[in-house]
Amino acid sequence: MNLQNFRFETDADGVALATWDCPGRSMNVITQAVIDEIEAIVDAVVADPAVKGCVITSGKDNFSGGADLTMLQGLGLEYEKLKREQGEEPAMRHFFEASRRLSLVFRKLETCGKPFAAAVSGICLGGAFELALSCHHRVVSDDPKTRVGLPEIKVGLFPGGGGTQRVARLMQTGDALQMLFKGEQIRPAMAKSMGLVHEVAGKDEIVAKAKAWILAGGSAVAPWDVPKFKAPSGKVYSPAGMMIWPPANAIYRRETHDNYPAAKAILASVYEGLQLPMDLGLKVESRYFAMILRTKEAAAMIRTLFISMGELNKGARRPKDVPATSLKKVGVVGAGFMGAGVAYVTANAGLEVVLVDQSSEAAEKGKAYAHALITGQINKGRAKTADRDALLARITASADYADLADCDLVIEAVFEDPRVKAEVIAKVEAVIGPDTIFASNTSTLPISGLAKASSRPEQFVGIHFFSPVEKMMLVEIIKGEATGDRALATALDYVRTVKKTPIVVNDARGFFANRCVGAYILEGHKMLNEGVPPAMIENAGKMAGMPVGPLSLNDEVALDLGLKIAKATEAQLGPDAVDPAQKALLVELVETQGRLGRKNKKGFYDYPEGAPKRLWPGLKDLQPTRLDPDTLDIAELKHRLLVVQALEAARTVGEGVITDPREADVGSILGFGFAPFTGGALSYIDFMGAKDFVALAEGLEAKHGPRFAVPDNLRALAETGGTFYGEAAKKAA
Ligand code: NAD
Repeated sequence: MNLQNFRFETDADGVALATWDCPGRSMNVITQAVIDEIEAIVDAVVADPAVKGCVITSGKDNFSGGADLTMLQGLGLEYEKLKREQGEEPAMRHFFEASRRLSLVFRKLETCGKPFAAAVSGICLGGAFELALSCHHRVVSDDPKTRVGLPEIKVGLFPGGGGTQRVARLMQTGDALQMLFKGEQIRPAMAKSMGLVHEVAGKDEIVAKAKAWILAGGSAVAPWDVPKFKAPSGKVYSPAGMMIWPPANAIYRRETHDNYPAAKAILASVYEGLQLPMDLGLKVESRYFAMILRTKEAAAMIRTLFISMGELNKGARRPKDVPATSLKKVGVVGAGFMGAGVAYVTANAGLEVVLVDQSSEAAEKGKAYAHALITGQINKGRAKTADRDALLARITASADYADLADCDLVIEAVFEDPRVKAEVIAKVEAVIGPDTIFASNTSTLPISGLAKASSRPEQFVGIHFFSPVEKMMLVEIIKGEATGDRALATALDYVRTVKKTPIVVNDARGFFANRCVGAYILEGHKMLNEGVPPAMIENAGKMAGMPVGPLSLNDEVALDLGLKIAKATEAQLGPDAVDPAQKALLVELVETQGRLGRKNKKGFYDYPEGAPKRLWPGLKDLQPTRLDPDTLDIAELKHRLLVVQALEAARTVGEGVITDPREADVGSILGFGFAPFTGGALSYIDFMGAKDFVALAEGLEAKHGPRFAVPDNLRALAETGGTFYGEAAKKAA
């Protein structure tokens, strides 16, 4: 047997061990070659009468992250080519057979007649977990890094290697659907209690335990291949089934608003598959898989959430000539809401932190926030008290700027006031070394303006975290006019160290994310003023694919902040720069009604103690007119809410704020939850087609005004039939 990705040996007891170890890769992935080799191993085990069974394990720290998504992308391209050359039917036939090969090989393993056991440690996800599920026995290690799961849904796919069928036959249907819909990574103990794995053992024991199971006469027949097998929830068409399926449908609608074809396919695949014997169930799953692989949602989500995000995390935008920085100590000035969060994530990544505020009490208060966060992790079983001690030991709270002296990077998060910031910049620069990089976490002040207060503007950069820092994965890195490559590289290295995803943007008011978010919130305010019922505005946002409605989002970021920004913008740019009706609405809410948002439990919503939030009934009194919901076009409301953001994103490209479409797409999903099924704000346009998008925007402009005006760069794409990604590729070539 000629194997490149596995080592194969048989011990004296006659148990084979296939150790998966893809050469030259840090993580095992499923490629065409790996699938061929798994089949060859199955054939070899069956053919040799001396072999009793086989254990599959990994030669690396992790088992495997699953299928190579670029391989799946390749299948799509092959399909397009064959369709052009030979027509749709042969192309589809080829595509179907190629896309179900994994499923067929796993089924061959499962029905080969000899027992297979999986010995798993570390990450085992997607297709790799489907391989484990097709083994007759599964032993996982109790290593803290061990996780199993089927996360395909997160990139718009669904498990096509038998996952939907096997999981649905292992556990109650409701639990199986939840697992498949959520795509969560599951810890060993939980996996055992869910019935996904048979044994949990020490890392060094998993192979021995798996072998022992085979030697003890482990059965080579999967439960569902035993005659008279009954699924845990019984038959689909039964009184119990009727308790499951109608609500499952409703939950699907509630959670996805029918935006995710992969989620619908999961539902259909489980529903249909459970009514069939395993082989036919797998065929049904394969049909849905082939269909889903060809959806624009899968293409968009794979591109943005897997490929582009991976590239940005690996430093796609890092200046190549700057040697890697070795950050050891980071200063954080301003221990308020943001500074405290920044100190926590920095110390959590193993760096030393000096946290400075105006008084020791204020600095200690910021450090106490880190204490509270890590205690929360301990309570959830995700950290140990020793981790807390170590983390807190890395944070020095101080009121003395001199303590910043030997920091490699200093990030300021003081009040959003240019004068305060200028003072802080001068005080910090007076004590830090000549090579130290200075970063501002400002959310609204242009970096080039702040850098004027710096004596070394080439070492000045924006590192814009989002709140809450410990949860939000995106960081905008802002290049001021004078920002040099070393400052940019240091910022990128730092963001990578704290395990966030960076996008690099050029300096402009609102940078990237807040501009698009602002447009979304403004549209919600506009609808309110027009007389659209508030609940309908919120539902339109969620139906369009946003995580929360615009009014709810405004409550989270605070209404007074919005008013403050509106006033500051007006003062600097003149009255035309703000929307008068929006300003009037915010003045009424903030200044007259004292409604600031979630922070004072009064905003567009009320936040009663111990009960879910609900829209404030007084909103209707603020509406000059009230429209009859039955006369409103919900499709148009949804379009308005996405189109207005996508147009803003397109403008940032036209203005040179965004220079790489991957960053707008990743930034829009991670930064403000832009409808993930679209692949992000620019992919939304690209996949719709610039021409159709422009026609849509023009219709909205005619009805709702110039905020829907199409920028020139987008109009040019519509005229040439181009895309944002196509343009970027041309520039890079
Ligand atoms: P905050 O008011 O909670 O904290 C500011 C802290 O800075 C306070 O603890 C204050 O004592 C301290 N401070 C003020 N002057 C100082 C000085 N001279 N020296 C040392 N410390 C000083 O504010 P915040 O919400 O944390 O915002 C801080 C910065 O982060 C602002 O620039 C803001 O625009 C930006 N930001 C805020 C958010 C957000 O959602 N709040 C999001 C992204 C960025």
